[in-house]
Amino acid sequence: MTETAYSKPVPDLDDPAMAPFWTAARDRRLTAQQCTACKSYRYPALEICPTCLEQGANWVDVSQEGTVWSFATYHRAFHPGFKDELPYVVAIVENADGVRYTGRILGPRDGLAVGAKVRARFVDCTDRFTLPAWELVAA
Ligand SMILES: [Zn+2]
Repeated sequence: MTETAYSKPVPDLDDPAMAPFWTAARDRRLTAQQCTACKSYRYPALEICPTCLEQGANWVDVSQEGTVWSFATYHRAFHPGFKDELPYVVAIVENADGVRYTGRILGPRDGLAVGAKVRARFVDCTDRFTLPAWELVAA
């Protein structure tokens, strides 16, 4: 798919704070920043660790398994690019490492609930933009 064929918003893939995350997503890796001092994870990128207030961090691979922490079903398209997919679900997923990500729930939604098991799914939106999303794992 080319950049012009994709009709939804695209993040600034060259933003130095988040570029490592987007690069990893293209490689089907889910990442988070890990504090070099206290080893806690954080996402999205922050300059200062909210746990210990130190500055250093590295991007590291994290678990692609998680659970639905919260979700909302959208019945109105707040961007025209989404109108053909209504209704769609956006969830906050807590992965097995305790990192929370906001993303779409794709595929069958039978069993969708807080606490439902999910795994990451990577959607190639453009040549450069791969969007991490989630799919339910059958119980
Ligand atoms: Zn820290």
